[in-house]
Amino acid sequence: MPAARFEHPLGRLPYAGRVTTPPFAAPTTAELAVVSAQLGRPARGVVGIAARCVCGNPTVVATTPRLPDGTPFPTFYYLTHPAATAAMSTLEATQVMPELAALLADDADVAAAYLSAHEAYLADRAQFGDVSEIDGISAGGMPTRVKCLHALAGHALAAGPGVNPIGDRALERSSWSPDRCRCEAPGAAVREVEDSSA
Ligand SMILES: [Zn+2]
Repeated sequence: MPAARFEHPLGRLPYAGRVTTPPFAAPTTAELAVVSAQLGRPARGVVGIAARCVCGNPTVVATTPRLPDGTPFPTFYYLTHPAATAAMSTLEATQVMPELAALLADDADVAAAYLSAHEAYLADRAQFGDVSEIDGISAGGMPTRVKCLHALAGHALAAGPGVNPIGDRALERSSWSPDRCRCEAPGAAVREVEDSSA
């Protein structure tokens, strides 16, 4: 592995240092309000904030594998930030997906890492219950296909660099970064905490 990987103790990608996998702190009212605003609908089944913008707002939520209404929900790491989802949609409209699929087909190391990412994803989700309908099903096309960059980038943002090789590459290609805040209400998710302590 190249030495450049270790320039920063947590990796060289801009989202290093905000790694969040279970266990999670329970989401606050302010965090859930920001997520609902991002989604344009009430947030459902959120068990934690899995990645954040530099301003503190959520970019990825962890969602229970069975929603409160009983629906199985495989996408444990769900990308919520509008600018991030738009950037992934833009990437999906280019030739990036077939290119990443070809990389997966041609590079045994990437394929092995992608399988490990799939297993890590399932292990993280299993901490919130086993749901038979989605048993063995992760997200984004893992472990052998590239179907949804939103899901793969969400996993990469949550788990940190070096876990999901396709999500890492999608973020590298993206015009969006959690280090350049493009939130409608920067810091709104953490403001309530500051106010209550003042
Ligand atoms: Zn922000």
